[in-house]
Amino acid sequence: MQHDLPLPDGRTAHLRLSDIALTVGFGLDLVYTLDLSGRLIGVYRQGKNMRRGLDGRMLARWRDESGTRQRLWLAEEAIDQELGALKADIALIAKAQPPPAMAVVLCHARHFDYAADVAQFHQVYRPISILPPDQYQALVLQATEGCSFNTCTFCALYRDRPFRIKHSQEFALHIEEVRDFLGPGIVMRRSIFLADANALIIPQARLLPLFDEVAKAFAIMPEQTPANKRKAWLHTHPEGVTGIYSFVDGLSAERKSVDDFLAMRLRGLRRVYIGLESGNEALLAWLRKPSTAAAMLADVKRMKAAGLRIGVIVLTGIGGQRFHEAHCADTAKVLNAMPLDGSDIIYFSPFRPDPAAPYDAIAAAEGIEPPSPEFAQTQEQTIRAKLSLPPPPLGPKRVPYNLSDFVY
Ligand code: SF4
Repeated sequence: MQHDLPLPDGRTAHLRLSDIALTVGFGLDLVYTLDLSGRLIGVYRQGKNMRRGLDGRMLARWRDESGTRQRLWLAEEAIDQELGALKADIALIAKAQPPPAMAVVLCHARHFDYAADVAQFHQVYRPISILPPDQYQALVLQATEGCSFNTCTFCALYRDRPFRIKHSQEFALHIEEVRDFLGPGIVMRRSIFLADANALIIPQARLLPLFDEVAKAFAIMPEQTPANKRKAWLHTHPEGVTGIYSFVDGLSAERKSVDDFLAMRLRGLRRVYIGLESGNEALLAWLRKPSTAAAMLADVKRMKAAGLRIGVIVLTGIGGQRFHEAHCADTAKVLNAMPLDGSDIIYFSPFRPDPAAPYDAIAAAEGIEPPSPEFAQTQEQTIRAKLSLPPPPLGPKRVPYNLSDFVY
């Protein structure tokens, strides 16, 4: 549904209401995106794309005059300015009598209490540290909190919380709280991400009831729905989801059989994301990963045998020149040995050291140079060139995965 609305200040507001969002545009220079609770999700303003997370932070991305990508986390004052400008524009639009279906969302937007919303977010969720890029719009459900290992020297994503598994009842309550928090805006979230770092580590007898809780709360799109029927299915199931997605680490996956993965798939699991990082065993051991490349290759084979789609994450630029050749050669070798097809994705994630992780200190003590974007780029190109897997659509997509773009 689209509607143009002349405003008293001489501008025209272009409104577009879809099944999941309301966009409010003023010419080519300014577009707001709101979820159906009236919550600001994104702003496009004069060449800058700003994405607002549920935690209240806003990331601006743009290309500078030389075409180089830039990004900046907005300061609190800048965020307040954006929210103030939005509310002023919404107040003008509300007075101009928009169509009733749009007026409902605009009314929510006009009265939206951002401080209360962020406070509720932090009550419902532990920090959402990271998601795969194709799941940034997922509905996150935290079946576990933290990472059961926390050993990897390059990773500080979950060092702020102890690992724990939620019981069914607590998880069911969490689902209710998430629903209550998102309100009508929940329809923007069309997949479920079972978090945190390695939720699939949960012993099978406790894990399957958690999948059942998800299925009780949300309609899950049947797996065989043809591509040309997916949109219609989502339209007729306003709170339906395309499936369940989750990270798994190598050691947790080792504990699951083909039948275990199949049981999860029958309950809606569609894609599993595994952090291979490297195919080189010496590098993985030096990084203190809790698994080996050989084991992760076997994990992927079992998951594929169960009919699951896979996302394999490779780190580039890690380990410096000392590991460069072996990292590139062995990573390509392990990827080439994986039975990946057109439904799978290989992510190349340029390594950026986190000051809260031990990597920097260990690397400096051993004379390993800090990573540079150029070095990471070279590694990605080298690994890509060594891949013998067919290109899409027969083979896996090769996709960049930049952790600094993550907003939830
Ligand atoms: S990389 Fe994965 S397994 Fe390692 S500490 Fe981070 S979340 Fe845990």
